[in-house]
Amino acid sequence: MALRFFNTYSREIEEFQPRDPVGRTVSLYTCGPTVYSRAHIGNFRAYIFEDLLQRHLELRGYQVHRVMNLTDVDDKTIRGASESGKPLQEFTSPFKQAFFQDLETLRIKPADQYPAATEQQYVDRMIAMIETLISRELAYQAEDRSIYFRIKNFPDYGKLAHFDLSQLQSTGRVKNDEYDKEHVGDFALWKAWDEADGKVAWEGQWGRGRPGWHIECSAMSTALLGDQLDIHCGGVDNIFPHHEAEIAQTEGCTGKKFVRYWLHCAHLLVDGQKMAKSLGNFYTIPDVIAKGYSGRETRYALMRVNYRMPLNFTWEGMEEARESLKRVDDWAGRLAESAANAADSEAATPVPERFEEALDDDLNISAALGFLFESIRLTNRAMDAGELAPAAARSWLEWWKRIDQVLQLSGEETTLPAEVAKLADERQRARLAKEWKKSDQLRDELNTLGWDVRDTKDGQKVTRRAGV
Ligand code: AMP
Ligand code: ZN
Repeated sequence: MALRFFNTYSREIEEFQPRDPVGRTVSLYTCGPTVYSRAHIGNFRAYIFEDLLQRHLELRGYQVHRVMNLTDVDDKTIRGASESGKPLQEFTSPFKQAFFQDLETLRIKPADQYPAATEQQYVDRMIAMIETLISRELAYQAEDRSIYFRIKNFPDYGKLAHFDLSQLQSTGRVKNDEYDKEHVGDFALWKAWDEADGKVAWEGQWGRGRPGWHIECSAMSTALLGDQLDIHCGGVDNIFPHHEAEIAQTEGCTGKKFVRYWLHCAHLLVDGQKMAKSLGNFYTIPDVIAKGYSGRETRYALMRVNYRMPLNFTWEGMEEARESLKRVDDWAGRLAESAANAADSEAATPVPERFEEALDDDLNISAALGFLFESIRLTNRAMDAGELAPAAARSWLEWWKRIDQVLQLSGEETTLPAEVAKLADERQRARLAKEWKKSDQLRDELNTLGWDVRDTKDGQKVTRRAGV
């Protein structure tokens, strides 16, 4: 079955045909974080969806060139820097580091490039693009000395968001304290310097100022991926105005279709509301870890619902994630023990491709996981009855390793909490000394702390107990 995605632009499921079907390379641009604070798990829902997309494309034999930008200059970063009394770079740098740490915790594959908006080469490109737009009458300088995009000269404006522009129509100039734009929908490409910007400024030929947020992504995506991209992603809140503006700016400069497939993920909710910094209803990755959950449990909890459906975050959901992963771990452990007895000559049993096919279908992760857990139930039952041949166990295990390239859920975190690691160590030593009573006592202690201990051929395995 061919890969299919829901394209926000057409509002239809479309067969995926990249620009380079022969070389099977795919360019993927994903809007990254604004580094004025630590990203919250709502943001990470978007990044995990993008990771799933990338890893599934790779499983299907595509080579993905992925770029994720870092917005390190905008109103929020400037305000934060000024409030903390630090230069902009010094203020944003720890948030960049924290972001990379969180990506690692969640097992998100790093992008090939992370361009930052303040890098001079990209600022130069933003300025050059704005010059082109001015020369084509797609941009103008307003009385506040800022440069705005002129949406009335770009007839496709509104196509991505399926926005009826007549709702925005204004007659003549709109003037109030904030605007001296020709049209209320015109957006800033360049913001003229004002005192609140402090030392944050670049020289455009039209005066000092700084780029608008939208032009940052147009410049960085085309600088690294070329004028035309295969896939562009973000959360649904990015559709308008951010992505609409990216299309207008980029196509206004190049005259070519900017993006083939626009994919947007629905929000992570808390009590039915979008998780957002501004609403104060958010958790960061360290918040979730501090509650005793691991990175992979968090990854699973944020990934298990189809990306176009809103996902409500709850602590019960985190418990369910823990229990589900415990089932997977136990199953994979049993398969490995059984597979160790398979003779090399024994034939493999092919596993149907239902997991992969579900993901081909607009990344239908619920169906894909449904098949995984149904398979776990059936093979466990066969193992209970002594009816799963070692060679079949080996085939299932190989299948699991294959699909886990996409899921990235196997294996406990390598770092056990210090207290648990100490008890596990002692128990290992007690077993080596054949002090069975002591070893059992230590096992009970670990159980009480919420950890299971299994003795396998490869030694003792300590895993978090489900429901604790
Ligand atoms: P921001 O740092 O606000 O620009 O957001 C970074 C990314 O996270 C964007 O792709 C947003 O669309 C996405 N995002 C923000 N809040 C949420 C949420 N509650 N659920 C899912 N994605 C979100
Ligand atoms: Zn963007």
